[in-house]
Amino acid sequence: MSADPNCIFCKIVAGQIPCRKVHEDDELLVFHDIAPWAPVHVLIIPKQHVTTMYDTTDEHAPLMGRMMAMAPKLMRDLGVTNGFRIVVNTGRDGMQEVQHVHMHVMGGPRPWIKG
Ligand code: 5GP
Ligand code: ZN
Repeated sequence: MSADPNCIFCKIVAGQIPCRKVHEDDELLVFHDIAPWAPVHVLIIPKQHVTTMYDTTDEHAPLMGRMMAMAPKLMRDLGVTNGFRIVVNTGRDGMQEVQHVHMHVMGGPRPWIKG
């Protein structure tokens, strides 16, 4: 599985940087965002290093599909019952700060810090 030694999320996958883990399987890792915008804010990431959604192709469709498909169960398990929001910031104009594909999943009572 590909990893970038300079990538902060690859370091989280490798256990070199701690995280508050919510779920882990062969392909995906889910953990709480360190600076949450909402009462519940997790990041779903592929374990393999993919820099941005621009780099994904049909080959990644099952992986990206799995990321999205697990959101409802994650939110339910975390006590979110009134809806949630998914964001995938992509590239510079998409305001992507961490260059490893990730899906923000946010929920919980408003107001939220952002959005
Ligand atoms: P982006 O702006 O790239 O879509 O979002 C990156 C997210 O990663 C931000 O919400 C930021 O708070 C989160 N983040 C950055 N570094 C870390 C970290 O070391 N640990 C965790 N848990 N989240 C991080
Ligand atoms: Zn990475």
